[in-house]
Amino acid sequence: MDRKHLLILGGTAEAAALAEAVVQRWPAWRVTSSLAGRTTAPAPIAGDVRIGGFGGTAGLVRYIEAEAVDCLIDATHPFAVEMSANARSAADQLGRPRLRLWRPPWSRDPRDRWVEVADAPSAATALQRVGRRVFLTLGQRDLAAFSALPDTFFLVRMIEPPANPPPLPDHHLELARGPFTLAQELATMRHHRINALVARASGGAGSEAKIQAARSLDIPVVLIRRPRPEPGPLTDSVAGAIAWLETIA
Ligand code: NAP
Repeated sequence: MDRKHLLILGGTAEAAALAEAVVQRWPAWRVTSSLAGRTTAPAPIAGDVRIGGFGGTAGLVRYIEAEAVDCLIDATHPFAVEMSANARSAADQLGRPRLRLWRPPWSRDPRDRWVEVADAPSAATALQRVGRRVFLTLGQRDLAAFSALPDTFFLVRMIEPPANPPPLPDHHLELARGPFTLAQELATMRHHRINALVARASGGAGSEAKIQAARSLDIPVVLIRRPRPEPGPLTDSVAGAIAWLETIA
């Protein structure tokens, strides 16, 4: 079998699991995982790792050509829309096979009290009718949308201390790396007397415990809808990605 060079666009638990599975299945392949570089100490990943943006679609095209990448798996977070779009255009331009590994969405339980919204500003508007002690589980760039909400406490959780403090008058910053268990999420929400959760509809098992905790505590969830995936081949599991690789190996 040929020695292939697979590029995994990563930054997610699924991407790391995929790198491990491919290294096991095809030990002779070169497997490179690409990270944006948002965290300074990412968890270990099997194979090679490169860090930092490529410089748009043009930069990714140059990288694929210079490093003789044969195929790509876009295993970025479902909300990483820019990277995902660049991956599609670069792969299409060069005629390289590309697969989207897109984690399955959460399914709604009848007990869930979800208010589904399009984006962070709409979440802030909806939140005013929902709760005043808020567990805000968004990325740093979305926090500013909540800065003008009056009389609201925010619990903000991040992996690492942000470069600038969250722009929220009344908040507590918790530094922790997931995944979190249901027991941990229940304890966190009870400890801070949370009465509303704001989350992206990221899907996948790894970040679902907060949704389950909100369900069990009867807490409303303002949920930012997922963007649609880029068109093209798609799987929702590492096993599906391995099966796709078998077809092009
Ligand atoms: P994004 O908005 O789609 O990407 C913005 C830019 O960051 C891209 O155009 C690219 O820069 C660079 N970039 C993003 N992902 C990259 C990767 N895997 N390798 C190299 N460069 C990358 O992405 P994002 O939402 O900021 O997410 C950044 C990373 O964090 C992704 O790897 C994603 O999987 C991970 N992540 C995101 C979330 C989230 O909620 N969005 C949550 C957990 C993990 P250039 O144009 O210069 O190439």
